[in-house]
Amino acid sequence: MVKRVLLLATGDTIAYSRRPAGVASGAGLLETIPPDALAADVVVEDVMAEPSWDTSPSTMLGLARRARSAILERGFDGVVITHGTDTLEDCAFLADLLAGRAAEHGGIVLTGAMRYLDDLSADGPRNLASSVTAAADPALRGAGAVVCLNDELHAARWVTMTDATSVAAFSSAPFPVLGRVAGGRVETLAEPPPRPPAAAGEPETDVALIKTYPGMDPVLLTAVVDAGARGIVLEGTGMANVPVSLFTTISELTEWGIPVVVASRCRTRQVPLEDLPLGTGLAGKVGAIGARGLAPSKARAALMVALGTGGPRAVRDWFGRL
Ligand code: ASP
Repeated sequence: MVKRVLLLATGDTIAYSRRPAGVASGAGLLETIPPDALAADVVVEDVMAEPSWDTSPSTMLGLARRARSAILERGFDGVVITHGTDTLEDCAFLADLLAGRAAEHGGIVLTGAMRYLDDLSADGPRNLASSVTAAADPALRGAGAVVCLNDELHAARWVTMTDATSVAAFSSAPFPVLGRVAGGRVETLAEPPPRPPAAAGEPETDVALIKTYPGMDPVLLTAVVDAGARGIVLEGTGMANVPVSLFTTISELTEWGIPVVVASRCRTRQVPLEDLPLGTGLAGKVGAIGARGLAPSKARAALMVALGTGGPRAVRDWFGRL
């Protein structure tokens, strides 16, 4: 039976042309692909979205929910979301965290492009065709949301944009690439990461992400809370270390019910804060929650979802199962 895939098109580089200047709709994007290169019947929905560096948490959450309901309630075999590459990984991870049972029944694939639609050898049409193939292929069932560019399939949890100028813009290192799209099908190369704990309740959209540095003033943390943040992710160094100058504030914020999650600027495998050798990971001793190896922007998406599940204890417990 012919598979059905929902395409949620949000504009950005994959859809931009410069001569004449314009943004292709989802239907316009599909027209760039020869029909025999499309592995499924595609239903298009155009979604108004800001450029991706400005895409609000609510727009991303809306996309994630639409992907989930397309599979669970509307019977689609898969969903493709076209998205600006700058924050594609953030949206992909939110879609992953909110997919729930949809991950078992259909593929959720996010894609974008590095070249404009009217550039020589534009990568968008091929990325889109490969993404439709991947979304419809049962090989991705259970994998959760994936990012597909340059014919590579990356787990949403692991992928990061590492090169803003190359068509090979995304990398999962030090984790493996999940698979490739080749010959009209998915070739699996590695096991996907474990599925995240269930999301419950309404995710919190006001979560701050702050990069730390030696000598930083803790007032930066209280300032974001005064401005309304319900949780903070700190981007630490190495094995998620943050300056000692922040410890008192981390401890106070934790007591006030503002969770502080500590991630690292390194692309490193997960090291639970509790298990770190003496002298490192000390933020955990004053109440911070370890980011479970998530990159800082992914930890922010996770904290948004975790805050929807309940109070500080629920957040800590949810991260513990991530
Ligand atoms: N380079 C980006 C793109 O894919 C800009 C953005 O993410 O909005 O369009």
